[in-house]
Amino acid sequence: MDETQKNQVAIVTGASKGIGRAISVELAARGYEVIINYRSDHEGAQETLSMVVNQGAQGRLACFDVTDAQASLTILEGLAEEYDSLDVLVNNAGITADALFVMMSKKSWDRVIRTSLEGFYNATKPVLEKMVRQKSGSIVSIASVSGLMANRGQSNYSAAKAGLIGASRSVAAEVARLGVRVNVVAPGMIDTEMLENAPLRDLKKIIPMARIGRPEEVAKVVAFLCSDDASYITGQVIGVNGGMI
Ligand code: NDP
Repeated sequence: MDETQKNQVAIVTGASKGIGRAISVELAARGYEVIINYRSDHEGAQETLSMVVNQGAQGRLACFDVTDAQASLTILEGLAEEYDSLDVLVNNAGITADALFVMMSKKSWDRVIRTSLEGFYNATKPVLEKMVRQKSGSIVSIASVSGLMANRGQSNYSAAKAGLIGASRSVAAEVARLGVRVNVVAPGMIDTEMLENAPLRDLKKIIPMARIGRPEEVAKVVAFLCSDDASYITGQVIGVNGGMI
């Protein structure tokens, strides 16, 4: 464990399973206290918390929907008051609702975009205010290869993730002189519930490494970006995709 990172506080949205859980555990292993956000999967969030505690780190749950502006603000402002510093925010919460665009309902379009983009605003705004005041912090948002390349059936998700990249880059430029770094990790196909119904055999054909990635492989890159080892990296999009793009 890096002793200098002890007692630092990290907030991870969408951490009841999958990539968010792996990020929480990786940050815990590096000594962060981890605040585990989730929306509905109480059991999964408890499991993440146990895994964080098993790393010898502190952790706690924060159940709120990142698309709910008032709930996000109340909880995150409360945390900003409670802690001396908030050191890391990982905007990981995300959903898919795939359909060809001609058949896509307004609801599917809105849900996916709201989760990524309003989620980004609602979680980032109160935490960034704190980071700017303390003159330090690292924010990492989880986008997707779909935000960088065409993907049939994912126009809503592509728009959401491309928007997340644009927002992150602009915010990065705004706060670069204030000690806060903002970056994006864009995973390819990662083995989580999100890929549950995906045609994995077909997908592997378009991945140069010919395999699906593991959540831990994304988590390591996120943790690097959060650490002082990435002290001159901001406004960047790092792919973790087995060579897809
Ligand atoms: P999962 O479906 O396994 O987990 C999604 C997590 O997000 C859950 O913890 C869920 O909470 C939470 N969540 C969803 N909506 C909200 C919300 N409105 N408020 C708070 N939490 C919410 O997904 P992955 O782990 O696969 O994905 C994590 C991120 O990585 C997403 O942003 C996704 O778009 C991105 N990604 C995933 C890829 C993959 O192949 N798996 C590829 C590229 C990007 P709960 O269960 O409590 O509802």
